[in-house]
Amino acid sequence: MGPQIACDVVPAFQTSPGMRDILPPDSARWRRFVDVFAGIVGPAGYGLVIPPLLEDAGVFQRVGEATEVVTKQMYRFTDLGGRDVALRPELTASICRAFAEHRPAVPWKVWCAGPQFRYEKPQRGRLRQFEQVDVEVLGVDDPHVDVEVIALGWRFFQALGLRRVELALNTLGQPDDRRRYVEALRDHFEAHLDALTEEGRQTLTRNPLRVLDSKRSGDADVIAAAPAMTDHLSDAAADHFATVRAGVDALGIPYRIEPRLVRGLDYYLRTTFEYLGGTLDSAQNALGGGGRYDGLVEALGGPATPGVGFAVGVDRTLIACDDEGVFSTPAVGVDVFVVDTTGGAEALVITEELRQAGRSADRAFDGRSMKSQMKAADRSGADVAVIIGPDELAAETAVVRPLRVHGDGTPDQAVVPRAKLVHHLIQHHSLRSPAPLASEDE
Ligand code: AMP
Repeated sequence: MGPQIACDVVPAFQTSPGMRDILPPDSARWRRFVDVFAGIVGPAGYGLVIPPLLEDAGVFQRVGEATEVVTKQMYRFTDLGGRDVALRPELTASICRAFAEHRPAVPWKVWCAGPQFRYEKPQRGRLRQFEQVDVEVLGVDDPHVDVEVIALGWRFFQALGLRRVELALNTLGQPDDRRRYVEALRDHFEAHLDALTEEGRQTLTRNPLRVLDSKRSGDADVIAAAPAMTDHLSDAAADHFATVRAGVDALGIPYRIEPRLVRGLDYYLRTTFEYLGGTLDSAQNALGGGGRYDGLVEALGGPATPGVGFAVGVDRTLIACDDEGVFSTPAVGVDVFVVDTTGGAEALVITEELRQAGRSADRAFDGRSMKSQMKAADRSGADVAVIIGPDELAAETAVVRPLRVHGDGTPDQAVVPRAKLVHHLIQHHSLRSPAPLASEDE
């Protein structure tokens, strides 16, 4: 419809590297992704939180001093008021800041969805602006809440229709266990400095634990020989982990223990976990992950509060969906397209009547020819066209023409009194209803 826009002109601006536009019809899939997530976590008692995209940079600095996400990848700048601010690189710190600020009653079970920003090297499954969905529970120490959270993520992947996701579980122990383990790791890596890459050696000076998180093949052998956290666990941490495992078993969720799983952010202790996609390259195969971060609220100036949660990356999970051929883009389109060759005033009223009656309807503009309007009707995905020409206008009727062939026998074209048009469409045409979930398609 509308005047043709020349496509061979180079636009003055394009999206910045690692950022992109999500256009229709793909955008419908993104929206549905969040809807499916909300449909899993909402009924489990989680409420939506919408934190700002921009925070005081200290919120992230405080929680990730040895984390590349914070030290190297943050979009940090001074605003016009002279404040040191950052676009959020992740959600957990923002949620904990919100908890410390508002002090809601515990347990505080919340979920979130939205973009994060990290100055990464853009590649498949790794962007500078990417979307996450996320849940967090603050104020519960019980290992069963770890299980609840882990299970929500698992059920979400199932609802999308993914079959090749693996759950990897680990524990980083209590803070003292973690400290002892970090020392054991430091001793190990310092004894094998030659076997580490230059980046690995640099990470070692900041935080030996983070060396385990290296995806570089040059570090792989020395990491494989590193001591395991499980050998440094206190009884309390071991008990917590045993209860988590028993709970995950009881829910019938398959998993493997991954003793080197530390996750990219510094604040995790006790339970950590990752959901790994079966089809992606190993450097980008984490679809989501999370764990416990019991000291984080306190680090942000709030009361000592246990916390556990996870984030799932939308971009990467949709790549996994494409690879597995599930969770396809939902059909978008309208129920009815109104073709009006009499100037468009009838189309204006009919589309409005249909929308008021709860049906989706579109029309052409700019007084285009019958042929051009019928093409637009076809492109719109509508099941039925309503056609108003001069004869119909004079006779106060409308032509109703089915556009798609249905297996159950498509009703023939009909001439309907204008006054009964909306009623007729609702009675005689099975207008679109929301598409079922991907898992139900199968
Ligand atoms: P994290 O916040 O680092 O624990 O990441 C959680 C999930 O967010 C990952 O498993 C990815 O699915 C996604 N994610 C993290 N960083 C990126 C990125 N740069 N681009 C796309 N997705 C990302």
